[in-house]
Amino acid sequence: MMEKYNRVVLKLSGEALAGKLGYGIDPEVIQSIATQIKEIVAYDIEIAIVVGGGNIWRGMAGSAKGMDRATADYMGMLATVMNSLALQDSLEDNGVQSRVQTSIEMRQVAEPYIRRKAIRHLEKKRVVIFAAGTGNPYFSTDTTAALRAAEIEAEVILMAKNKVDGVYDADPFVHPEAKKYQELTYLDLLNGNLGVMDSTASTLCMDNDILFSCFPLWKRATLKRLYSRKNWYSN
Ligand code: UDP
Repeated sequence: MMEKYNRVVLKLSGEALAGKLGYGIDPEVIQSIATQIKEIVAYDIEIAIVVGGGNIWRGMAGSAKGMDRATADYMGMLATVMNSLALQDSLEDNGVQSRVQTSIEMRQVAEPYIRRKAIRHLEKKRVVIFAAGTGNPYFSTDTTAALRAAEIEAEVILMAKNKVDGVYDADPFVHPEAKKYQELTYLDLLNGNLGVMDSTASTLCMDNDILFSCFPLWKRATLKRLYSRKNWYSN
């Protein structure tokens, strides 16, 4: 049997949760994600999840329309809390124990982010969902995934994508001849401005030797394939 990962961070973009709706939360998609996560837990892999908020609100879009950037970003972080609660609900519905930890304190809703407590939950085989990003404006949930992965010593970040099945050298929807990478370094990502992960997140991963793998969310078997440890930066 191939060596498996012990602890992973799964990054779900907000858009992924929207599914075909294009906005908000698609219950079917969230149910499918929850069952896939359940399978990972069953393989004895500790899993922490960072959820985005782009299906509800993106700070940049708000600030482009004249809103104060920090305020718009805080709204984005609150959007990630809604997504996290929806995911937790679905996980628990599927019999998977989970805890939401938020970087912005809201005690009636979720636990505050406490690194050691998060690790303890993981050790007890609970899924931990990190909500409210880093708690700081001007950051993204990609960066949150990189930061939390470094903090909890996860080996890999699994980036769920809902349109592409890996990393390409150009947008495959615009350039059908675009080439898919089998392997990639963070420097390639940064130099090529490849957009699969933002530059702050890439730098953090590069400096802390965190691997990332990019997989299509709609192909159910793919997440399972990522149980095994492969020295890929993408697939
Ligand atoms: N955000 C932030 N700080 C963080 C994480 C997120 O300000 O540490 C805000 C930012 O406005 C962002 C929004 O939350 O646009 C939603 O997160 P993101 O765009 O990363 O979500 P995704 O693209 O994964 O859906």
